[in-house]
This record gives sequence, structure tokens and C-alpha cells, in this order.
Amino acid sequence: MENWDVIIIGAGAAGLSAGIYTVRSGLKTLILEEKLPGGTIADAPTVVNYPGFDEISGGELAEKMTMHARKLGVTIHDLEPVTEMNLTDEKKIITTSKAAYEAKAVIVSTGSHYKEIGVKGEKEFRGRGVSYCGVCDGPFFKGKKVLVIGGGNSACITTLYLAGLAAQVTVTHRRKAFRAEESLVTDIASKGNVNVLWNTEVQEIKGNKQVTQVTLVDNTTGKTSELSVDAVFVQVGEAPNSQIAKASGVETDEHGYIKIDILQKTNLAGVFAAGDVTNHPVKQVGTAAGQGITAALEAYSYIRRPYYKK
Ligand SMILES: Cc1cc2nc3c(=O)[nH]c(=O)nc-3n(C[C@H](O)[C@H](O)[C@H](O)COP(=O)(O)OP(=O)(O)OC[C@H]3O[C@@H](n4cnc5c(N)ncnc54)[C@H](O)[C@@H]3O)c2cc1C
Repeated sequence: MENWDVIIIGAGAAGLSAGIYTVRSGLKTLILEEKLPGGTIADAPTVVNYPGFDEISGGELAEKMTMHARKLGVTIHDLEPVTEMNLTDEKKIITTSKAAYEAKAVIVSTGSHYKEIGVKGEKEFRGRGVSYCGVCDGPFFKGKKVLVIGGGNSACITTLYLAGLAAQVTVTHRRKAFRAEESLVTDIASKGNVNVLWNTEVQEIKGNKQVTQVTLVDNTTGKTSELSVDAVFVQVGEAPNSQIAKASGVETDEHGYIKIDILQKTNLAGVFAAGDVTNHPVKQVGTAAGQGITAALEAYSYIRRPYYKK
């Protein structure tokens, strides 16, 4: 079994930043990534709030971070998902789809994913009209009819963004009022091309090659109806990728986010967490990078001066 000082799970902003700091501290570092390195920010068409870059595409920023980490000596195994972890002992064992590795310390930086609504057609038409990111996919539906599902801040932000592109935006919300910031709700009310259907849920997404219509149900009467749309933007929240860590004994909050202290320590000695997978309230590239850095320096302290032996 290969031995590493630090194994980092997930090569997004948090994991790559952590890797830069652990190798610079002289720790042999492996990052395991289930997809390609770069993480979620690669989905952002433009990033204008990451210091040092007044405007950069998310893909380019992700690539620059990956190249930076590799140049400094971080080993990144991509397309290698972590499937199991044994984190409670001093020696941490990380199992992937390809091998098992041993590490002295582990940093979990697995990010989060968009929640699905779980209706018929959702999986089938994903990428063919079903989207979870208005900013990423909205421009494909310029001048078309689109549907937004949800009633929180992200649904409202997506609705406002799409209202500037699409001919018609319909919003379905299962409740009778938005649960979003008042200014967003006011802005939506002022848009002439937005129609909100309250107490309404999507029962099925239909189409041929692409989405063409949805079946709606009024949850107060049970009455169904059909609506023609070219795209469906599901905006019902995000969930952390913390299941494997949780199954290994890492403590999470009621929403599944990994509980951390100010130094990114979890409840398990030698296990740290950083970025969107944690219960830190801000989810941005800058905060993910900062958390990754703190986790790396704490992992260094843990390995070189193990407090549990004092
Ligand atoms: C469309 C969009 C636009 C955004 N725009 C901005 C912006 O302009 N500015 C800003 O600051 N923030 C923006 N964000 C937020 C920002 O992208 C995130 O806060 C940040 O990327 C989180 O970094 P992370 O490293 O915590 O997680 P991620 O970047 O999600 O990285 C987690 C990585 O872990 C991997 N992983 C998960 N499970 C496993 C496993 N079992 N085994 C191995 N690997 C695994 C994932 O594949 C992923 O690569 C945007 C987000 C989106 C979706």
C-alpha cells in the first residue's frame, strides 16, 4: 500500500489550495479526484471576485490552480473516486475505485452538489434541457420558454438572470410564497416576462431529444396540467458530498455539512475538512481556498507535532 503524509479528497479550490501548502511544508501529498481537477468553479462562465483576477473564466481559474499545485509537486490522481475511508485510527486508510492508500492526515474537500427533485424525466433529460445552473446554461435558451423550480434565494437569482435572456420564465414553487430576500422577490414582481405558479409541483419532465414540456400538479387541488417549455432549471438547493466522510465517523450538522472548528479540525484526530463540504456559512472560491490553507497548516502541525501524543 502506498504511504503518503497527507491525502486530500477532492481537487477543487479548497483541496488544491491545501495541496499547495502541504507540499510547500515538505509533506508528501496526494489529491484524489473523482472527476477532473478544478472543481465546481470550472462551471462558472466568469469570475470577477477572486482577488488578483479582475475577470477570468471559471475554467481558466480552475486550470491555473491545478497547474500551480502540480508544478509545486502535488500528485493528483484524477478520475479516481474515493469509495471508503478508515479515519478513526492513527493510520488513515483511503480506498478508491483503483487502490488503497495510507496517510498520516486527511483533508476532506469534496464540495457539494445540486439537489434533484426526483421526478420522471429529470435524469433522462439532464444536459438536454434539464439544468442545475442558470448562469452556466441560461445563454443556450435565449428567446425561449424556460421553467425554474424552487422558491429560495438561488431560485430567485436564477429567475432574474433568465428573465434577461429568455422570452418567458415560469416559476413553480410548492409553497404559496417565496422564501427569499425581499429585494429579490420585489425584482421578480417587476419583470413582465416572469409568471409564478404557487402551490405547484412538477410531476414529470417530457421531451424527445430535448425537453419540450412538463406535467404540473397543483398541490392544493391535485389538478394536473401541461406546460410547453424548452428548459427546466432545478433550483431546490445544494447538498454536501459528505456521505463517505460521515460513514467513516466524521461528524456532520443536521444538513450533512461537516462540522469544523476555526482550525478546520473535525471531530476525528488527523482529519480536517475545507470548502463547500463544511458548515462554514460562506461558499466561495476565496473562502474555500482560505479554509484549505488553514487545514493544510493544521495537518502539518498534527503530523510534525502531534498534539494527541503530548
Ligand atoms: C455556476 C457557479 C458559479 C460560481 N461563481 C462563483 C464566483 O464567481 N465566485 C466565487 O467565489 N464562487 C463562485 N461559485 C462557488 C464556488 O465555485 C465554490 O464555492 C468553490 O468552488 C468550492 O470549492 P471546493 O473546493 O470546496 O469544492 P468543489 O470545487 O466542488 O470541489 C470538490 C471536488 O471534490 C470532488 N469529489 C467529490 N466527491 C469525491 C470523492 N468521493 N472522491 C474524489 N473526489 C470527490 C469533486 O469532483 C470536486 O472536484 C460558483 C459556483 C457555481 C456552481
